[in-house]
Amino acid sequence: MSWSIGYDRHWNRDIGYGVPAICDHPECNEKIDRGLSYVCMSEEPHGGDGCGLYFCWKHLTTCGCERCAAGDPPFQPKPDSSEWVEWKLTDESWAQWRAENPDEVAKLKGGAA
Ligand SMILES: [Zn+2]
Ligand SMILES: [Zn+2]
Repeated sequence: MSWSIGYDRHWNRDIGYGVPAICDHPECNEKIDRGLSYVCMSEEPHGGDGCGLYFCWKHLTTCGCERCAAGDPPFQPKPDSSEWVEWKLTDESWAQWRAENPDEVAKLKGGAA
């Protein structure tokens, strides 16, 4: 699968540079996407892979995000942007996904599954 759009099984959300998102830092509303350039994947100094959350360049250092750089537990991931939810619910390229995942669709629409 390309990096355009994928699925993160750890955080249960869509990832890839085709996915518009907001920086996962709680005090930040910077618009980013969930591509490789924004993911927290630190190699140093704690040896982990980073939290896998997505941050704007202000909140992503060579040591990963603020929390990973400090060796703290990761931030709470933010919900998908409304822009992205709207896209999944309406775009033709997601028609098959909608047909296969009626429960997810109901959840995105805010109704009871
Ligand atoms: Zn991190
Ligand atoms: Zn940020």
